[in-house]
Amino acid sequence: MKPFVRFEDVALSYRDDGEFAIEDVTLSIAPNEFVAVVGPSGCGKSTMMKLCSGLRKPTRGRVEVAGGAVAGPLKIVGMAFQNPTLLPWRTTLDNVLLPLEVVEPYRRTFAAKKRGEYSDRAMALLKTVGLAEHADKFPWQLSGGMQQRASICRALIHEPQLLMLDEPFAALDAFTREELWCVLRDLWAAKPFTVILVTHDLREAVFLADTVFVMSARPGRILARKPIELARPRDLEVTYSDGFIKLVHDLRERIGTVRKAHGSVRKPAEPAR
Ligand code: ADP
Repeated sequence: MKPFVRFEDVALSYRDDGEFAIEDVTLSIAPNEFVAVVGPSGCGKSTMMKLCSGLRKPTRGRVEVAGGAVAGPLKIVGMAFQNPTLLPWRTTLDNVLLPLEVVEPYRRTFAAKKRGEYSDRAMALLKTVGLAEHADKFPWQLSGGMQQRASICRALIHEPQLLMLDEPFAALDAFTREELWCVLRDLWAAKPFTVILVTHDLREAVFLADTVFVMSARPGRILARKPIELARPRDLEVTYSDGFIKLVHDLRERIGTVRKAHGSVRKPAEPAR
């Protein structure tokens, strides 16, 4: 099958001194594959997202999405981040509608379809994530988990072929985080799209992904590609199974090796006297 995302020997330097944030990155992601990227802070996970969405150009190598080289910001991408970044003066519904107001071809028909077709589409998404009754509330009237649900709806409203999530659940408590794993799992199962999820949470990566890429410390390289062969649909029970726990351990070991090799594991502090 032709890959949907392809990195070929990609390197990116933010500076002129030749020091790379990521280097030698070669990978392929299939259409509708759910990929998670894990690795130590600063290894270049967000940099990979910027390259994929066209916000940055590689210093070396080639990035292809949907069969073409990425030459500028892509419209077929939806993004959500750790901070939900909802606009405080807009209701939940109007926040979710925002991409249709700015992205073509929706933009030109926005005024005509805003209160009809587009609102219906936004309401259907809000319903899927359990927020339909909160559509008229403002962000400050929502909990952190509800805001993040709305932000994922906003990322999906223009039906992107590629969804990129940068630590979307990192700021949430453990229960809410697991609830949102299931929300994301269901959205993806209902209407598949390609996903790249950047996360520090190895359980999250294993629960959601088809494939986990492990990155090395700076300059980020792909150290391992781990297929997650747990049957789908997966529910939270699977996180207690031996197979799941072993996968998480394997990944943890890999990352532990990387951190030690780069001296980023600190010795515990001396107890205060
Ligand atoms: P991660 O997402 O894995 O934490 P990033 O992709 O954000 O890592 O960053 C990778 C490296 O590139 C880091 O050393 C970071 O300081 C550097 N970097 C990221 N963005 C910029 C930028 N806009 N200008 C200069 N350096 C940057």
